[in-house]
Amino acid sequence: MPETVFEVDVDAPPDEQPDPIVNRWHPDIPAAATVEPGEKFRVECLDWTGNQVENSDNANDIRDMRLDPNHHLTGPIEIAGAQPGDVLVVDVLDLGPFPDNEWGFTGIFELDNGGGFLTDHFPDAAKAIWEFDGVHTHSRHIEGVHFPGCVHPGIIGTCPSHELLAEWNERERELIEKGPESPEGVNHETGDDQPPLALPPEPNEVMLGAMDDDRVEEAAKEAARTIPPRENAGNCDIKNLGRGSRVYLPVFVEGAKLIVGDLHFSQGDGEITFCGAIEMAGWLDLKVDVIEDGMEKLKTDHAIFKPGYQDPDFSSYVVFEGYSVDEDGTQHYKNANVGMRRACLDAIDYLTNFGYTREQAYVILSTVPVESRIAGIVDLPNTCVTVSIPNEVFEFDIDPDKLWDGPDTADRSDVAKPT
Ligand code: ZN
Repeated sequence: MPETVFEVDVDAPPDEQPDPIVNRWHPDIPAAATVEPGEKFRVECLDWTGNQVENSDNANDIRDMRLDPNHHLTGPIEIAGAQPGDVLVVDVLDLGPFPDNEWGFTGIFELDNGGGFLTDHFPDAAKAIWEFDGVHTHSRHIEGVHFPGCVHPGIIGTCPSHELLAEWNERERELIEKGPESPEGVNHETGDDQPPLALPPEPNEVMLGAMDDDRVEEAAKEAARTIPPRENAGNCDIKNLGRGSRVYLPVFVEGAKLIVGDLHFSQGDGEITFCGAIEMAGWLDLKVDVIEDGMEKLKTDHAIFKPGYQDPDFSSYVVFEGYSVDEDGTQHYKNANVGMRRACLDAIDYLTNFGYTREQAYVILSTVPVESRIAGIVDLPNTCVTVSIPNEVFEFDIDPDKLWDGPDTADRSDVAKPT
């Protein structure tokens, strides 16, 4: 077994961990451990909320979630000799939940506290708990679903340089200041009743690993939130980045400072409920190497990914199509976001034919290995997005041919709600 260089305790609060948690991107976070190129090592990770969610049948914890301290991450791991301009090669050797903690959760966040992709259709908090049986998972809150997950880290990345961090903060602040009337059309559905456009640095509940307290105060004002993916990969949520994957990460600071976490037992493309995968705590075995001057050799200043070969092999899908016309009938110009919404909403309506509530269907789309694609981006004015649900994840057949005689009214339990 590779040596564990970062430990967590799922029974302790985030600020009482064996190794100090990090929840922001910043160049000056001290390394929690140092490894040599070519070395295999193990790291442990809290779930992204830092133990805020219980294995229970109410969603009070999702409703009352403190969002400022998320994501709770592992690192930074310093790679000896890595220099800015290099590329860090990270092999995901193996990963999984802790053997005595084989469960995970999915949350629908309230509109006023986190929201989600379809938050205007699902404004209330809800939760589903998943139990793991080896490679399979099932939920007492969504009966009739049983499938092999695609276990992966939602977040993997290198720390930004001071210059890159300043660039992130500037461009995201500009977007926030431009507000919901931005001519690019990206904000067309935002407003007072919607989550913010971006998350500026939030000093509240910052954790910067082992950084000295007197230094943290200053760094907290500029340390970037870990919510969006950026040049350093970060919260990329690529569901196929499992066992056997290789990730090439640009190096922006000395030692590269690798940070990982937000482990998922499974996820659908898009992770649409926001707390949207099957979120879990667990362990990750990694091996790292360094390509000297790799950014120039690979001609890249972004991450490059080679997913592994160990994903579930589904063969039969039911596919939904969305395009750039929203649910009010308004025509948008080549808008993939609207296309994705429409495809998801149609898929949700469809799944209610089999006895699921709309909340259950929303969680199913977010957690089972759904494939989402941009089918066509050139056919004015509609960008076509497809959402493909693998039929094999259900213990029954969701083929449209099964509905010729009308819906299946089976009782499939329900998601947990706040009490
Ligand atoms: Zn996650």
